[in-house]
Amino acid sequence: MSGSGAPLVDLRSDTVTRPVPAMRAAMAEAEVGDDVYGEDPTVDRLERRIAELLGHEAGLFTPTGSLANQLGLRMLVPPGQELLCDVTAHVARAELGAAAVFSGITTRTWASERGRLDAAVPLAMMQPDAGPYFVSTAAIAVENTHNLGGGTVQPLEQARVLRRGVEGTGVRLHLDGARLWNAHVATGESLADWGRLFDTVSVCLSKGLGAPVGSVLVGDAELVAQARVWRKRYGAGMRQVGVLAAAGLYALDHHVERLADDHAHAAVIARACAGAVPTAVDVDDVRTNIVVLDLAGTGRTSRQVVEAAAAQGVRVSAFGPTLVRLVTHLEVDDDGADRAAQVLAGALAG
Ligand SMILES: *Cc1c(COP(=O)(O)O)cnc(C)c1O
Repeated sequence: MSGSGAPLVDLRSDTVTRPVPAMRAAMAEAEVGDDVYGEDPTVDRLERRIAELLGHEAGLFTPTGSLANQLGLRMLVPPGQELLCDVTAHVARAELGAAAVFSGITTRTWASERGRLDAAVPLAMMQPDAGPYFVSTAAIAVENTHNLGGGTVQPLEQARVLRRGVEGTGVRLHLDGARLWNAHVATGESLADWGRLFDTVSVCLSKGLGAPVGSVLVGDAELVAQARVWRKRYGAGMRQVGVLAAAGLYALDHHVERLADDHAHAAVIARACAGAVPTAVDVDDVRTNIVVLDLAGTGRTSRQVVEAAAAQGVRVSAFGPTLVRLVTHLEVDDDGADRAAQVLAGALAG
């Protein structure tokens, strides 16, 4: 509770949501079996449904998005070859070097503006057959929406240019679609139009969709069968996890279209912050549920703003000395968004 007695508004991440009562009921009632034996009908239903939504043959349920990404990358990149991705990509910055540790993958990055994809850049960098001295490029990863970029929605046309550019080269494409749902709701573009452009796609159920746990990796049947072996090898073969898959199925039925509310709330907060400090955020960039505030030039540090907001019951995250990130989600209602807007605008103005 804040000093005013109003409830806390926790904007640190969209992962902080707790399963709603109807989701818990669906979990309690789930039909289950031993998924390592391929006998959990609810997991099977979730995997098939997400594969179909994304225009792929098969899906694999994983406990985390990091594991879904890492299984996809392992399938696409042989040891000693490289992955290309943008310098602020989750796979490069927030998975603790997993691609190198587990799969012997080197990563080469390109600079970007808010994570936005310009396909010409990786296409110019890639070297699919680099010979005996240089590292050969095996895959390119794209993130949509882009987390550290501030919820950036990637242009579908650039993804199409990327697909055409790798055609016939052997270079394959991975989509980190942890928040692809948000891009889908913000643009109206179909999930399958995005999914079909990539060899592997990961999506999260535990971000804006509000499930307590879970991601799904999709690809062709043979690739997913191999990823299933590696999931077990990593120790993530799970048994009666239909109780968790049921949360994901509930989320697909009830929590996708409502992401538009989260986007509207983020816009309210961004407008208030831009009103207080115009250089902090460009409101036109805020199209989904993430707002990144840039404090450079305000004379304030991210820590000061985080602490000032926390003192008034609004929790946000510091990303480096001058960046503050906030994320809206299904536990933030209209009143919460209005209060966060007011508190953050005040904290920015100092
Ligand atoms: C959250 C997230 C992931 C996966 O994170 P986990 O905490 O491992 O589930 C992957 N990519 C992006 C862009 C994310 O935001």
